[in-house]
Amino acid sequence: MSARLVIMGPQGSGKGTQAARLSQRLGVPAISTGDIFRANVKGGTELGNQAKAIMDAGDLVPDSITNAMVRDRLAEPDAAEGFILDGYPRNAAQVQALDAVLAERGETLDAVIELGADREELLNRLAGRAAAEGRTDDTAEAISRRLAIYAEHTAPLTGAYAQRDLLVTVDGIGDIDEVTERLMSALGSRVG
Ligand code: AMP
Repeated sequence: MSARLVIMGPQGSGKGTQAARLSQRLGVPAISTGDIFRANVKGGTELGNQAKAIMDAGDLVPDSITNAMVRDRLAEPDAAEGFILDGYPRNAAQVQALDAVLAERGETLDAVIELGADREELLNRLAGRAAAEGRTDDTAEAISRRLAIYAEHTAPLTGAYAQRDLLVTVDGIGDIDEVTERLMSALGSRVG
């Protein structure tokens, strides 16, 4: 099965959880740029050291670093038949960089999923996650910074993807299984 997907949605929309489930269903890896950065911070790599303070503030890591990291990850054999990108692209420059990487490989995206949730629900979920996972960037300031960056730089990307007829919008509120079913049926024949 081939599936080249992007999943978008504000922090707390459940996109990480749903990306993992879609990965199982579709047999392609879920690739979270946030997870890769966190693993590097934990491992004390040079990349991690460059990213840590930026992440803790809730800001975006520079595009040059992020784009190179994604390019390398997509070159790994498990991504040959597809991938679900979670947390990337996050701005217009990253959209272009992703298009360029895929074009070099003779590939295109099959769909871009937008997972929606209202602001109150998001803030509740993020507060729960901060308590459960102890993420150092789940402070009130960093959360509000990330939501503001999402609204300003990332949410507008859906318009461009809609024009390319790639956008699939799904309501992320509700039971986790139910949301997965909604996603699978919304993707329909775009994957496979
Ligand atoms: P996330 O787990 O997706 O919420 O990402 C956590 C943090 O990692 C973000 O707040 C950014 O600092 C950084 N990050 C993740 N993905 C990207 C990206 N595509 N571009 C820039 N920074 C990113």
